[in-house]
Amino acid sequence: MSESCIFCKILNKEIPSEIVFEDEVSIGFSDRFPVSPTHVLFIPKKHIESLDKLTEEDSGVVGRIFMNISKFAREKGLNGDGYRVVNNMGSNGGQTVFHIHFHLLAGRAHAWPPG
Ligand code: 5GP
Ligand code: ZN
Repeated sequence: MSESCIFCKILNKEIPSEIVFEDEVSIGFSDRFPVSPTHVLFIPKKHIESLDKLTEEDSGVVGRIFMNISKFAREKGLNGDGYRVVNNMGSNGGQTVFHIHFHLLAGRAHAWPPG
């Protein structure tokens, strides 16, 4: 928990959000400014600043989140047309919220390379 972190506040329900997935170690909630018809952010409950700050000890949660995304996408029927999973790290990566998160983007084609 970081006092100033928006995503920790979402976890603690201090900031309202549409939580669409939860397990013991993570949640998924709708992005407030969606860039695709489906735009869900998956985050660990533990405050980890970024991919750069991930430790061996916490690495399991990332595998778990990817598993959750895979299951969630299948349950919602997003897997047929495909989807994109994004992690932005640091300023060149375009990270704006410093609590590690994975964007699930679906419902339209996503260009490559990204901007
Ligand atoms: P980043 O740029 O760090 O990879 O992604 C941060 C994401 O968090 C952005 O897509 C942004 O729209 C989303 N976001 C920022 N503040 C809030 C908020 O208060 N609620 C929700 N649901 N999403 C937020
Ligand atoms: Zn946090």
